[in-house]
Amino acid sequence: MIKIPKITMKRTVSNWPEYKHIKLPYNIFVGKNVLEKVSYITKEHENKLVVTGARTSKIAGSKVARILKCDKTISKGTPLDEAERIAREVKKEEIELLVGVGGGSILDITKLAAFKANVDYISVPTNCANDGMASHVVSIKNGGKTALRANPPIGVIADTNIIRKSPYQFTSSGFGDAIAKFSAVKDWKLGHVVKGEYFGDYASSLATMIAKITLKSSLEISRRTEKGVNILLEALISSGAAMGIAGSSRPASGSEHKFSHALDMIAERPAMHGHQCGVGTIVMTYLHGEDWEGIKNALEIARCPVTAKQLRIDRDTVIDAMIKAKEIRPERYTILEHLKIDRPTAINALETTGII
Ligand SMILES: [Zn+2]
Repeated sequence: MIKIPKITMKRTVSNWPEYKHIKLPYNIFVGKNVLEKVSYITKEHENKLVVTGARTSKIAGSKVARILKCDKTISKGTPLDEAERIAREVKKEEIELLVGVGGGSILDITKLAAFKANVDYISVPTNCANDGMASHVVSIKNGGKTALRANPPIGVIADTNIIRKSPYQFTSSGFGDAIAKFSAVKDWKLGHVVKGEYFGDYASSLATMIAKITLKSSLEISRRTEKGVNILLEALISSGAAMGIAGSSRPASGSEHKFSHALDMIAERPAMHGHQCGVGTIVMTYLHGEDWEGIKNALEIARCPVTAKQLRIDRDTVIDAMIKAKEIRPERYTILEHLKIDRPTAINALETTGII
């Protein structure tokens, strides 16, 4: 059993930003056959370009380009290069709006390209694998993962007819990313109490609610009923809103995300983002002294990995990732820094929670 140091409350006033500029998507459609709504939410923009992938073009990208009567570009290079290429095209062709149609990577390329070219964009996700679809945060693979700040989309079209047909692993990954808000908020509170960091009650309450509703809906989501997929999509879109209100990814990303980013850097074959975050949430919730078994149970109901073996990552790499996680965004104070996690503590926590 790990002895968790007592957290003492600071009596001083914590840092509060001088001002906030809260940007949120203002047109969101979630449900059956909402793809056609793309023309409604883009009607104020003249010159548009659809950004899609080779596979997602067949699923929805071509159809969206047809509905909007505009060109599409198939993105297939590395994300940073692709964002640069598309941003150049936007300027040259005087494009006013980008429409990203695809999975997380395509949506991130669109988000970054729109930011670089200073134009608006909308997200049309073809799966629900993570909470990037409505957020201002770009997660780009660059020898591990780098989080960059951009703008949120002005609209989101999440068509459940398309999303429900994607492989189930995308849904379970989204489930893990939503559940991760449990430990992310605990870490944020810790940063507030110990370091005097700004802590937003609205953003943190929203993030906690996202995790609670997702947990309560485990069975419905695992069955991928219309209601279940809607609940998960609302959770992932709300997570983008929580980040928008906080002005950072703090309510959505804590020690469990650092653990996932560390795995992305050192594992030969990293697992899906939300699956790694889900396993991270189990062990980080244990370190926080909270109900990790309830979280593990919900992840099992949703058919998410709960062990290193199920992530298909070996024991030593998972232990190394727990230790390396502290080096990722060291300014973001979490339970990992608080407990100064070393090898014996990491092994103990991973063994106690049954991850290794
Ligand atoms: Zn995430």
